[in-house]
Amino acid sequence: MTDSYGSDHDAAAPSAAHLAAPRPLKVGDTGAGAGGPAASDAVISFENVTKVYRTGAIAVAALRGVSLTINTGEYVAIVGPSGSGKSTLMHILGCLDTPTSGTFRLAGEKVSGMSEEALAEVRNRRIGFVFQQFNLLASMTAWQNVELPLIYAGVHRAERKERAMAALAKVGLASRVQHRPGELSGGQQQRVAVARALVTEPDLILADEPTGNLDSVSADDVLRLMEELHQAGRTLVLITHDLEVASAAGRVIGIRDGLVTEGDARDLENVR
Ligand code: ADP
Ligand code: MG
Repeated sequence: MTDSYGSDHDAAAPSAAHLAAPRPLKVGDTGAGAGGPAASDAVISFENVTKVYRTGAIAVAALRGVSLTINTGEYVAIVGPSGSGKSTLMHILGCLDTPTSGTFRLAGEKVSGMSEEALAEVRNRRIGFVFQQFNLLASMTAWQNVELPLIYAGVHRAERKERAMAALAKVGLASRVQHRPGELSGGQQQRVAVARALVTEPDLILADEPTGNLDSVSADDVLRLMEELHQAGRTLVLITHDLEVASAAGRVIGIRDGLVTEGDARDLENVR
């Protein structure tokens, strides 16, 4: 296990503090009534989002006008070849970076144009992250790792313990709460990481190559867990290179040269 975030060129990983969400548990709110999904059902809304990186005189357009809606309860895979803009898209989705232009709304809240500080607050409150490298603290037990975001959120000890235990039970690790990461298999470590992402009751679970460091049995295990979360009504967005992972999701969004596509067979050719 490792405390660093080493996949690809995804250098701007959030620290553990970013996993916190100072928000009470909420019951699944299906609200909309007879008229079908209301606009507020959109967890993610991108309108013509661009991202241009400038280094000196050179500008790279990593996203070139992305419009996209992801609704509550959707299970979405984002796939694309290296350099297509996946990490850029994930950084914006995860409130780790802001668009150059266009509008990004997260659970109805306009995030594009926010200050760093406001962005961090939204990130902590609304997003649970799962990383390829698990990012668990090696010296802490599973339970301590999972309660960490609740410490940052200022939740009191008794409630922290109760919620961390419940999250670990939810991922099937009730009997491993006192184990340290080194005493758990890769699949179990990723389950701990998923429990840590869930414990704050985020609006969105954002996973970057969640099976990338796992053998195929453990990867299947994590995919089953994702399916359970989906069945429980969670909104899941997975960034992946893996065809099996992409096929597990109900919806596949392709990204190529900074533009998204949907329903294009070529998107699945780009995953290995
Ligand atoms: P992917 O994750 O799909 O490999 P990225 O989002 O990392 O793609 O990159 C998309 C494009 O933006 C690439 O051409 C990459 O070189 C460029 N890029 C990414 N990050 C930066 C940066 N910080 N500065 C300049 N160019 C960048
Ligand atoms: Mg990348």
